[in-house]
Amino acid sequence: MPLATIGDETNFDEVKAAVFASLGLQAVNSGLYDGVWADSAGRKTIAVHSPINGAKLADVAVAGEGDYERLIGNARDAYSAWSRVPAPKRGEVVRAIGDKLREYVDSLGLLVSLEVGKTPTEGKGEVQEMIDIGDFAVGLSRQLYGVTIASERPEHRLYEQWHPYGVVGVITAFNFPCAVWSWNALIASVIGNVVIWKPSPNAALTAIATTKIVNRVLDEMGLPPLFLLAVDEGRTIGEKLSNDKRIPLLSFTGSIRTGRRVAQAVAARLGRSLLELGGNNAAIVTAAADPEIALRGVAFGALATAGQRCTTTRRLILHESIYDRFIAKLTRVYETVKVGNPLEPGVLVGPLINQYAVMAYRQAIQRAVDEGGRVLAGNRVLTLPGLEGGHYVAPALVEGMPDFEIVCEETFAPILYVLKYRELDEAIAIHNRVDQGLSSAIFSTDLREVERFLSLRGSDCGLANVNTGTAGAEIGGAFGGEKETGGGRESGSDSWKVYARRQTVTINYGESLPLAQGVRFEV
Ligand code: NAD
Repeated sequence: MPLATIGDETNFDEVKAAVFASLGLQAVNSGLYDGVWADSAGRKTIAVHSPINGAKLADVAVAGEGDYERLIGNARDAYSAWSRVPAPKRGEVVRAIGDKLREYVDSLGLLVSLEVGKTPTEGKGEVQEMIDIGDFAVGLSRQLYGVTIASERPEHRLYEQWHPYGVVGVITAFNFPCAVWSWNALIASVIGNVVIWKPSPNAALTAIATTKIVNRVLDEMGLPPLFLLAVDEGRTIGEKLSNDKRIPLLSFTGSIRTGRRVAQAVAARLGRSLLELGGNNAAIVTAAADPEIALRGVAFGALATAGQRCTTTRRLILHESIYDRFIAKLTRVYETVKVGNPLEPGVLVGPLINQYAVMAYRQAIQRAVDEGGRVLAGNRVLTLPGLEGGHYVAPALVEGMPDFEIVCEETFAPILYVLKYRELDEAIAIHNRVDQGLSSAIFSTDLREVERFLSLRGSDCGLANVNTGTAGAEIGGAFGGEKETGGGRESGSDSWKVYARRQTVTINYGESLPLAQGVRFEV
């Protein structure tokens, strides 16, 4: 049943009860859907705790190696039926999924909040993103165009067509627990693929609830299982997918360290991987910036989702002439921003996902200090009354140098390194000196500065923003990054082509056999 309204959205237990009732979650949930939900009895379970207060949300019975063959077999069977359905009809299925998701924006959004600690507006925004990409995929189902090419030979026709790959694997990270799945799955499915999802164990309940909603639609329409799910303890199913030739395309979202392993395994079998890995995103604020827009853009980019977005602003490159003024204002924002229970109104920064993330936050700041950095704000682990089991930190602002080792790494926590520059070319060099290449921003009202940033000697990232922050992309554009971010593109524009194999077709409708390039071969 969809969630009507919760009496008090800030009451953890009440929210949990209403969300679980709406989404059909229980104390123990099956994490394996291979056409039917596997029986949880006798299976290994993992406990899911909320980062908000450490409370146990539920147990999840996980998939293991022994489940894999059946999973793949069922997915392949489903593919053979689904790939015969015309693409616009597939679009109708995705439209029904989108309609069903619309009924669950509140409950699924709040589950995201409970499970990974996002504010409800961000949690619901994530479900909205699924709905938006669904709409995009529906339109796409009638626009899977291939080009026609003029043949150099008489009475020949040359064109391209796009076929599905078959079974596509999708491994996702904890921090976008359902939106990233939908970017991949809803687009891959209108092309005719079947998707096996291996979510992060840190966001298992959101994956289970999403799969339940989606499969209810498929069941009602009498369709085979197109969206399968295998929650594991961490790496078991992900490694199987990486090494399996029957998975022609594996989409991986996560850290660079894990992504490198996955990419190497997929490459070793000459498969294709779609990599959406870590970022180390910077915003340049020039002397010509609108100060208010720059301040808000940097604050949102650095603080939203408690610094746990792949597109989080991690480095601020400030012009020396505005440095002191800007830092004074930003420090005030850091000192006053409300950190705490994300379910409470006014809280903008929720918890980190677990104690390891808190440890990474502490270690990173210590390393920055050891390298000569100066803490301007934050550097405190917070124990909040009533939320003692939660994982809260004060967002940190650290003055540093571009070549500090720690500044060149991604720490998945709210730490913003502040760096100073004099000339724009120097700022761009600082910007581009890291190994990651996801998102970038410049705040400036000077056309020349902006165009230099956007020129081929400017930002080397997959995403470039002007007078808006590094975080918060729209689904209409292709999303992804360069260098160690992995080069993948997902979501809008022509990213759909990643999920399809291109076939160039040559048809000779004449009565002779002319060869290309004038080659003669008389037999
Ligand atoms: P992670 O790398 O720890 O885990 C990602 C996924 O990989 C999880 O599902 C995990 O269970 C799985 N996994 C672990 N070991 C594996 C193995 N050996 N083989 C296959 N799969 C394995 O990442 P995380 O902590 O969940 O997420 C945070 C990271 O994800 C950050 O680096 C962030 O920047 C990145 N991220 C990138 C994007 C993007 O679009 N570029 C989006 C979201 C998150």
